[in-house]
Amino acid sequence: MNFQYEGKDHKGIVLRMERSSIHDGTGFRTVVFMKGCHLRCAWCSTPESQPFEIQTTAEDQTYGEVMTVEEVLKEVRKDIPFYFHSGGGMTVSGGEMMAQPDFARCLLQQAQKEGINTAIETALFAKWTVVESILQHVDTAYIDIKFVDPELHRRFCGVDNRPILSNLLHTNSLRHPFRLIVRTPLIPGLNDSEAELHRIGQFCTQLKKLDWIQLLPYHKLGTDTYRKLGIPYALGDIDTPSPEHMEACRDIVAQHLERVVW
Ligand code: SF4
Repeated sequence: MNFQYEGKDHKGIVLRMERSSIHDGTGFRTVVFMKGCHLRCAWCSTPESQPFEIQTTAEDQTYGEVMTVEEVLKEVRKDIPFYFHSGGGMTVSGGEMMAQPDFARCLLQQAQKEGINTAIETALFAKWTVVESILQHVDTAYIDIKFVDPELHRRFCGVDNRPILSNLLHTNSLRHPFRLIVRTPLIPGLNDSEAELHRIGQFCTQLKKLDWIQLLPYHKLGTDTYRKLGIPYALGDIDTPSPEHMEACRDIVAQHLERVVW
């Protein structure tokens, strides 16, 4: 079938596409990871997703590929039979998917037109006009809050978090329905203090569209990629938090909101 729509030939840099059924949204998902991110989180498990350009390692591994919107959707459509029974769909992730806004918007808009459920995973570090234009085409938005404290955010993520928090508050004014899920990667020693967990919980009480908060335990999955890219891993030896610690952190955030999971 030959699809004709505006933006079909728009090009973006895609890190990779994956099929997943555990994280990244409801049901079976086709996840489009885009390249490029303005943040530099100290624990980032996908350092290859941060630069906007295509990279090749000393071991001849290439990260990133230029694709058109239609080329991505052609792959996504192959999975439509799996979406039907599982309630799945396409998830656009990063890097930071908002950093290639036109490409992401065209992709999400056309997927929705074709009846494909859409989700995004984002740090929401973008102008509100960009955020608003993308959220219009999204059924579920997973949005990270890594810190509410601005100094900690600047120190460990490399940028000011005020645009992120402001964008989150602006979602209160949106009329169209979508599910908003806040995710906080829990990094021992960085954002798991009682004070910061209370700040996160308190901040989220202001979000009218919030469905739930999910705490994600820190893991070291990306460390081998740091080695391949020849860049130092800033966090050194931090252990994955224990289930007991996750539960204790959840209890603190849950003092502000009922729906907190990990
Ligand atoms: S926002 Fe995500 S992709 Fe960007 S640096 Fe942080 S963890 Fe990595």
